[in-house]
Amino acid sequence: MQTRVLGVKVDVVTMDKAVEMLETFIAEKKNRLVATANAEMVMTAQNDSHLAEVLDQADLVVPDGAGVVWAARYQGNQVPERVAGYDMVQQLLARAAVCGYRVYFFGGAPGIAEQACKTAKEWYSGLDVVGIRNGFFTDADEPGIIEDIRASKPDILLAALGVPKQEKWLAKHLTELNVPVSIGVGGSFDVMAGNVKRAPLWMRRISLEWLFRLVMQPQRALRMLALPRFVVAVITAKKH
Ligand code: UDP
Repeated sequence: MQTRVLGVKVDVVTMDKAVEMLETFIAEKKNRLVATANAEMVMTAQNDSHLAEVLDQADLVVPDGAGVVWAARYQGNQVPERVAGYDMVQQLLARAAVCGYRVYFFGGAPGIAEQACKTAKEWYSGLDVVGIRNGFFTDADEPGIIEDIRASKPDILLAALGVPKQEKWLAKHLTELNVPVSIGVGGSFDVMAGNVKRAPLWMRRISLEWLFRLVMQPQRALRMLALPRFVVAVITAKKH
């Protein structure tokens, strides 16, 4: 089942269902694009028709943020739970270690993907990481990056280039990359590398992860103005 939040398609799935779908995608070996929608992404899509189009064509868009879950419920949809992208990636990596799925880490500042990969290998023993590449590159570097990913034949491509760059990049190159599951994972490598802390569980439980982020990364304040604008837009949209 799907719903729309300010026009952006969101799949109504639980965490278990999302991971099950990712594993089906891996088995089916088609080139699938997965996005994790939060309020910031939905607001970006309001003024960025290219991002909106990419999300519309994505094969799975999980309700990553508390704001998106709230909005969908406010509109009367039975969204069972938040499917945080970070947690979904962890569950997928755990399955990858058990099932032998090949994983490629792409994105983040130089050294971050390596560190995230090291952590992943400690947490998920036996994880098969087939490639690592930082997320800072020029147009001239792109063919080499695409070739490296293709040649490594990953089952899962984690792309941490930030929103909306990662979604657009993956959508543009989906066919040539030829990877069963490509996911835009935003700042997940920074968290796995220990560079950025995630909110404690109690804060996540009461939907305050955004507040933790604001306090820990005040440089995000400007972009986080999207959150109150999101709430107003959702309420206004329901009235009309
Ligand atoms: N990044 C990157 N290449 C770029 C721009 C950003 O690899 O050209 C990385 C950046 O180092 C960071 C991640 O993308 O690790 C974006 O993290 P953020 O927390 O901003 O994610 P978002 O909120 O956009 O999902």
